[in-house]
This record gives sequence, C-alpha cells and structure tokens, in this order.
Amino acid sequence: MRIAIISDIHSNLPALESVLAKGAEMKIEMWYCLGDIVGYGPFPNECIELIRKHCPVVVKGNHDSGLLGETSVDDFNNLGQAAIKWTKKQITPENFDYLKQLPLISILDKITLVHASPAEPEQWTYVFTVRTAQDSFAAFTTDLCFIGHTHVPVIIGEDMSINTYQPLPNDSDQPKNRFLINVGSVGQPRDGNPHAAFGVLDTADWSYELIRVEYDVEKTATSITKAGLPGALAKRLVQGV
Ligand code: ZN
Repeated sequence: MRIAIISDIHSNLPALESVLAKGAEMKIEMWYCLGDIVGYGPFPNECIELIRKHCPVVVKGNHDSGLLGETSVDDFNNLGQAAIKWTKKQITPENFDYLKQLPLISILDKITLVHASPAEPEQWTYVFTVRTAQDSFAAFTTDLCFIGHTHVPVIIGEDMSINTYQPLPNDSDQPKNRFLINVGSVGQPRDGNPHAAFGVLDTADWSYELIRVEYDVEKTATSITKAGLPGALAKRLVQGV
C-alpha cells in the first residue's frame, strides 16, 4: 500500500491542494497527517475540512493544541501567537471539536505517528539534536516513527546515521536499523526550499521517498496580507524559511 504522510499544513490551502493532487497522480491509497493543520496561514477551516475528508489517521500538533487552549501559546513566537488569536475568531465549532478529539500519538503495526517527539509528545520537543533523537528512539517500539514539527525533512537511523534509509527487510531474522523520519512541512517549509514537502511510504517493499511539489505561494501570501495576518508570514513562505 502506498501511504502519504503529511505534516504542518498550517492553514495553507493552495499547498495542501497541490499535495493532494500530487498524491492522486501517484496513486496514494492512504493518508496520514501528523498535525499542525492550523496556525500561521489564512485557511484554517478549509484545511481542516480537507484533512477530515482525506486522512483517516491524524494526530494533534502544538498549534492545534494552542488553538484549543490545551497548550499555552506563551512559548510560541509573536507570529505564531498572532495567528492563533486570528484563527480563534475564524474556526467553526465543528472544526474545533474535530481538533479536540485528535490523539497525540498513533501506533499502527510497524509505524508510530506523532507530531513532535514520541518521548512525552505533549512537551512538543524539537528533534534537532543527537540527545533528542536518542530520547525519541527510547520512546517508540515500532520499526518506523514519523514526525514533523521542525518543518525540516530528515531521516535519522537508530545508529544516528543521517539520510541513509534502508527499507525494512522482509525476513525478520535479518538485521535492521530503525528510523525516525521527519516528512517536512506542507504549508511552511523551513529548509530553504519553498515547495511543499511530504513523505510517501510503500509497504510492499518499505521504500520511502520525500516528495516536493510546487504550489501557488503568491496566492497564499496575498491571502495572508488580506486577512490581516502579519506580513512576515507571507514573506517566509516565498523564501521557504
Ligand atoms: Zn508546525
């Protein structure tokens, strides 16, 4: 089965639509979402509604949690705080209730799904260091764990190798490395590439691929300005930072 794993949409509808179109082209059969559907961008309700329609498995992100009042937004930067304040006025009661019932972590056979780190998911730790990566590996038991949150795609092996993914062996006696895979961000990439990012896992051979897809950045940027959201949120999308 070909599974697309998406994260950090951040209310960027043109980016999400491009990713869904690319997925249809790639014959994706299943969609998983790692949270942060809202925050920063101008289309919270539209994005939640598309996620509800396409993704049977979704976990909660820190911006979703901040909107719900479950996580303090004091730790968010000024842009993040301004966007949550704006989103609170836009969100429909149905979409609010949908976000509220999302779990923090989901474990499906060989795969763990979590927004930030499987080690205390509610702490929203950024996996950017060897220490946080090791803590993450200690906290999950599946072969693969998919994460988002940093908006920077990377594959970390349990041996602390970087970007050396090896598909899981079909023979369970064979030695294998476990992997922590960050799928990047659909709606606000921060690795210097403004194209929307998402991961595709094929369980037939356990191959994994990071996909980048162009979208109408200008459309989102214009809508950010029109909505009265901070202009810096539009500028960073164009630069992919
Ligand atoms: Zn995010």
